[in-house]
Amino acid sequence: SNRIMLGPLVAAIDQGTSSTRFLVFNSKTAELLSHHQVEIKQSFPKEGWVEEDPKEILQSVYECMDRTCEKLTQLNIDISNIKAIGVTNQRETTIVWDKETGEPLYNAIVWLDLRTQSTVERLISKTPGRNKNHLKHKTGLPISTYFSAVKLKWLMDNVEEVHRAVVSKRAMFGTVDSWIIWCLTGGRSGGVHCTDVTNASRTMLFNIHTLDWDPELCKYFDIPMEILPKVRSSSEIYGLMKSGALNGIPISGCLGDQSAALVGQMCFQDGQAKNTYGTGCFLLRNTGAKPVMSDHGLLTTVAYKLGRDKPACYALEGSVAIAGAVVRWLQDNLGIIRTPEELEKMAASVGTSYGCYFVPAFSGLYAPYWEPSARGIICGLTQFTNRKHVAFAALEAVCFQTREILDAMNQDSGIPLSQLQVDGGMTSNRLLMQLQADILCIPVVKPSMPETTALGAAMAAGSAEGVSVWSLRPEDLSEVTSEKFEPQINPEESEFRYARWKKAVEKSKNWET
Ligand code: ADP
Repeated sequence: SNRIMLGPLVAAIDQGTSSTRFLVFNSKTAELLSHHQVEIKQSFPKEGWVEEDPKEILQSVYECMDRTCEKLTQLNIDISNIKAIGVTNQRETTIVWDKETGEPLYNAIVWLDLRTQSTVERLISKTPGRNKNHLKHKTGLPISTYFSAVKLKWLMDNVEEVHRAVVSKRAMFGTVDSWIIWCLTGGRSGGVHCTDVTNASRTMLFNIHTLDWDPELCKYFDIPMEILPKVRSSSEIYGLMKSGALNGIPISGCLGDQSAALVGQMCFQDGQAKNTYGTGCFLLRNTGAKPVMSDHGLLTTVAYKLGRDKPACYALEGSVAIAGAVVRWLQDNLGIIRTPEELEKMAASVGTSYGCYFVPAFSGLYAPYWEPSARGIICGLTQFTNRKHVAFAALEAVCFQTREILDAMNQDSGIPLSQLQVDGGMTSNRLLMQLQADILCIPVVKPSMPETTALGAAMAAGSAEGVSVWSLRPEDLSEVTSEKFEPQINPEESEFRYARWKKAVEKSKNWET
């Protein structure tokens, strides 16, 4: 049987904003052997609010694990070859649960959620000089609706059950990684309450220099420190699976999704970068052992710390809130497409937006603007414009937003990227990839194995001390095959369209003020 040829396997849970996946890799070749994916429902109970159900998230993890194990068995692959499990997750999304009952005390508040906008505006107005970067020297982040601290504060101030659980010392806070790991390692009977440095660095309660929770930040947001998870490295044994077919297997990797993609794309060198196109769009550039503070609206974040005794590596990050989410909006809200795949056909049939520009600032604007009061606009319409042009403009918007981030990144680092490594669900759209190369005027390179986020989490889990079935030495890492999209339009045309986009962005800003 092929079982002997395979050697040790490593699995990854990839809990994203739009879906959950479980994937199993061969640790010798990085080959993806089997996987299963389940969509996650998002609810929008009020304008600007975005929630998900923590129990549905957990159920989806169990379902993906069970189905993948069945598929492996059908392939005649022995699941006892799985030696470790890594977790990677949508970042910032905030959950509070009761450690006695194991029950979530409210829905997960998703990173995109805008309910804390007035709190954020009030906090900024109280800083000297109305400075949104008041906490940046410690956190690497601007004060924004995006990060967990304000979401957690909202829960404590507005949800009676959360307030009571905090007072009676039964509350646990976590990002999605913490919730999943606590549940899988036993939940209310002995679950491990932890997170890793990359997820912690997105809460605004974490000092990215000392790599620990910061008492001053916690005081600033009124967060009691005893509800926070213990912060660990991204690669170590946190605990063992406590049920199901994978009972007893160590969970030994944990990274926020964008960090995991950086690892999965093997961007281990200072200066290497990747851009991931999912619900949002996130460009991260490795800056090595040094946190670099941006002058152009980028975030400074912990990239990874691959072992308890290993140094932390940092990254500059450009975060775009709405990328794939605009596709879902065209599908669910406007109803002009039935599937994401239809968008490519529709846009390709016209090949131009015909002067239409679409700024999807549904959740305000993130990098490089950090403007919570921005709102979406579609402009440049004429009698001639039809839905196909709007579809094209939506794809172009994703590319223009990436261009803004890349420009900021190049200015901050002084060394322009010569090509862009990409991944994420939207990269299956070939028109988008070509448009991106055209708008950036540099080649776009897409690995042929698209699940780089999960791969990164598997690499972290497989290389953890005490597991050690996956080598991260550069000479042992397997060759990656990829596809390259070269720019095809002339730079003048590209600049002209980009200048128009910038005008559209100006119109979307300060909508509410
Ligand atoms: P996440 O990790 O945020 O859940 P994924 O990387 O799984 O996101 O990507 C899913 C997103 O990609 C969805 O928003 C979906 O609309 C979008 N998407 C998937 N396929 C396509 C496509 N062919 N064209 C455009 N968008 C797509």
